[in-house]
Amino acid sequence: MLIDAARADLPHFVTHLECSKTGEPIEAGTLQNLSPAGAPILVRYDLDAVRGALTKEALAGRLPNFWRYRELLPVREAAHIASLGEEMTPLLPLGPSADGGKLLVKDEGRLPTGSFKARGLALAISMAKELGVTRVALPTNGNAGAATAAYASRVGIESYVFCPDDTPEINLREIALQGGNVWTVNGLIDQCGAIVGAGEGAMGWFNLSTLKEPYRIEGKKTMGFELAEQMGWELPDAIFYPTGGGTGLIGMWKAFDELEAIGLIGPKRPRMIAVQAAGCAPIVKAFEAGEEHAPRWEDAHTVAAGIRVPAAIGDFLILRAVRESGGYAVAVEDEAILAARERIGREDGLLICPEGAATAAAYYQAREEGKIGKGETAVLFNCGNGLKYPMPDLAMTLDRNAEIDWAEMARA
Ligand SMILES: *Cc1c(COP(=O)(O)O)cnc(C)c1O
Repeated sequence: MLIDAARADLPHFVTHLECSKTGEPIEAGTLQNLSPAGAPILVRYDLDAVRGALTKEALAGRLPNFWRYRELLPVREAAHIASLGEEMTPLLPLGPSADGGKLLVKDEGRLPTGSFKARGLALAISMAKELGVTRVALPTNGNAGAATAAYASRVGIESYVFCPDDTPEINLREIALQGGNVWTVNGLIDQCGAIVGAGEGAMGWFNLSTLKEPYRIEGKKTMGFELAEQMGWELPDAIFYPTGGGTGLIGMWKAFDELEAIGLIGPKRPRMIAVQAAGCAPIVKAFEAGEEHAPRWEDAHTVAAGIRVPAAIGDFLILRAVRESGGYAVAVEDEAILAARERIGREDGLLICPEGAATAAAYYQAREEGKIGKGETAVLFNCGNGLKYPMPDLAMTLDRNAEIDWAEMARA
């Protein structure tokens, strides 16, 4: 019998929280947003002690959901865990569309609420529960709102969700049906974020904005744990990550250090490649200019709504990870995104989301430019379920009362 680590009482190894900018320690077990220096807060563990507890043998006895890494997650008591079935997502090889390269897709569309936002919000909501929060709020382009509403409802927390007014209907409706109070706002995600900040006093809600609380990173870092475990504790040569707020990229980079500290992987790291859309590429611009911070991108637009993030508070952490890894940041056009989605659907039978397709477009470009060698293994993140997005109408019609021209059908 495998144990479900989400339901088991396991030892807890958090030592303290830490400002990502100054390194200043902050007491664990307290409700926190940004650090006194105005930067994201990171969670620190007693890694020497975790080394003896989170072993390959321990993992072999646990169900394949991301709570199997409990010793490196911040929730103290299993009773506080908000769970909707966070199964490990498959790592699928691509064939024809890999163009002869070694290409794997981590398909995050299988998670609850159909996107990898479930990882971050499952942890953030579990910690909110543990720390006594009863109401949360956040700005979102859709997927984070759906995950927030679902996990909050799961543990009896109220949620308030603010979306740009061009957020797809399907996201607004799923949020509402999962118990979220959802508003559309005539502005972009950072402007929705300003409303969340302004309402903290009057509404008494806890602000769950990307990187403005410590725990969404902890959830997103489980992508790094799963990837390492699924690849036999050997990381790939390159990771292409669709970068909005950058939580997943920062989280995986942290995860790799933690895995090395507990002896599960060696020093080898993948090149981290931050992929953005040409219509909203603040990180790419800062990377190319050699800057540490990325100024707000004006007139942000792209079909890949999840990476339409004009300003990221963790910009310096994204840029640091990309540079330390020997990777780079790159922007792809919407046409290339849509072409990549179509190609992978047609050649590999996998429907990916536009943000995932952006990473594929960046991979094709990297292969062409020789930035990824043929023998190298690259991993793409398909961060959302393709069914959540608008799709072209390519169906043909038949009149069942007319004579069918089979020869013409065969040519279609
Ligand atoms: C949020 C989101 C992203 C960006 O993720 P970050 O880790 O915040 O950069 C990419 N794709 C989809 C589908 C998303 O919902």
